[in-house]
Amino acid sequence: MATFKDFRNNVKPNWCPGCGDFSVQAAIQRASANVGLEPEDLGLVSGIGCSGRISGYIKSYGFHSIHGRSLPVAQGVKMANRDLTVIASGGDGDGFAIGTAHTVHAIRRNIDVTYIVMDNQIYGLTKGQTSPRSEAGFKTKSTPNGSIESSLNIMEMALSADAGFVAQSFSSDLKELTQLIEQGIQHKGFSLINVFSPCVTFNKVNTYDWFKENLTKLSDIEGYDPNDRTAAMNTLMEYNGLVSGLIYQNKEKQAYEDMVDGFSQEPLVNQQLTLDQEYFDQL
Ligand code: SF4
Ligand code: MG
Repeated sequence: MATFKDFRNNVKPNWCPGCGDFSVQAAIQRASANVGLEPEDLGLVSGIGCSGRISGYIKSYGFHSIHGRSLPVAQGVKMANRDLTVIASGGDGDGFAIGTAHTVHAIRRNIDVTYIVMDNQIYGLTKGQTSPRSEAGFKTKSTPNGSIESSLNIMEMALSADAGFVAQSFSSDLKELTQLIEQGIQHKGFSLINVFSPCVTFNKVNTYDWFKENLTKLSDIEGYDPNDRTAAMNTLMEYNGLVSGLIYQNKEKQAYEDMVDGFSQEPLVNQQLTLDQEYFDQL
């Protein structure tokens, strides 16, 4: 059985020392091993950004796609080969700006993909501009007088789009993050895990210390029930989205691939090979 070390390759990440993305890499490796995967069982599709490099830093099948488009690729991979565990990954600029529509529709479509977003509330790769996750008033090179736009509350958006699995965590909490990724992988259907992953180089506001002061663990809220969508929405509003843990899960929501007509449970790649063989036999 594989251990997390088997999900390491020999590529050295070129993230800045202290970047939160290192913990996400470690958590994906640990969670994959903990749920019993081998490297060849995992397909990791990433978008563009500092965090998008992650598909090259984990030993598995990997696809470094284009900006905001990790989800269309990941959903296609899953539909073509349902034996593969598929993780999509990228940053907040990638998934919640250019890729927002893909995120919303992947949530409602509910193909069995785990989407892990490294949310640093800034564009890191392009050297520090305001993202849709930056708070109003946030000063960067693109908003020298402070952003006049409000931040997109992505967890509330996911609940509104009828998500079956919504979680949030923090790079500093490797244990919680690993457990949530395990739960996301095991959830049958689309799962969204937003990870506060500080950009130590360009975001001097939302630092590790800032999150330690401002994040509330859902496990510390008495009686919190992740099966109650209304309570989840109310809690997100009450804490301005600054909570960590499993926010909501609906185990009853059926995955797309289990409902679509005309598909056997055979992976599409095998069906396609059969069709191709028939075609060639006719020539
Ligand atoms: Fe991480 Fe920020 Fe450095 Fe990018 S610029 S690698 S997000 S610390
Ligand atoms: Mg970002």
